Amino acid sequence: MWTLRVFAASLVLIAAIAVIAGVMTLPPQDRPFARLNLEDPVGAFTAARLARLRSDSDACMGLISLSRLEVAPTPDISERGFCRLDGAVTLARSAHPYSQTPRMSCALAAALYVWEREVVAEAARAHLGGAAVSRIETLGAYSCRRIYGRAEGRVSFHATGDAIDIAGFRLSDGRLVSVRTDWGSKSAEGQFLRAVRDGGCRVFRAVLSPEYNAAHADHFHLDVGDYAICE
Ligand SMILES: [Zn+2]
Repeated sequence: MWTLRVFAASLVLIAAIAVIAGVMTLPPQDRPFARLNLEDPVGAFTAARLARLRSDSDACMGLISLSRLEVAPTPDISERGFCRLDGAVTLARSAHPYSQTPRMSCALAAALYVWEREVVAEAARAHLGGAAVSRIETLGAYSCRRIYGRAEGRVSFHATGDAIDIAGFRLSDGRLVSVRTDWGSKSAEGQFLRAVRDGGCRVFRAVLSPEYNAAHADHFHLDVGDYAICE
């Protein structure tokens, strides 16, 4: 009986060692307990790790200081009883310049940086025939409102600076790729936008495109909020 128990315990131990050894051979972005690095490729845990930065602003600012993100600290905001911006940043530039200098949570800035490097730049290389993205056209990030600007109902993740709306991409050859005009097209611009949306779903918690509803006909909504959705 005793030898049987020792044998069973040994089997469990061998199995545990095999699992741990297997996990350790994975790249860091696919390991469940590895640290987030903004320069790593997108992996199985990237979106969850980026969203978790919302509750760890020290870790987030540490990651930003190691990246090429250029941000300015931003005064905290508390308004209308449901809008709050704590430990936020004003984005001067990420991997690309933006059409505005939006205020946003540190976690959103970190996620944008990963998305631009690993998704947007890759999609441009794959679809845009040698042109690169020279500026990201945004409709803004922090905005004190409930979803769809209604008087009642759920507070938008824009109201904590955890969401940004992207209307399009200016290219190095002068072209403008616009969500309103090019989404759904079979053109190179349309394929680029689809790759940017699909890849965004591996970085952000929520990505809403014109496929979601008419309110998103002219932009992508990207957030590091609480609800995973990709549409
Ligand atoms: Zn939005």
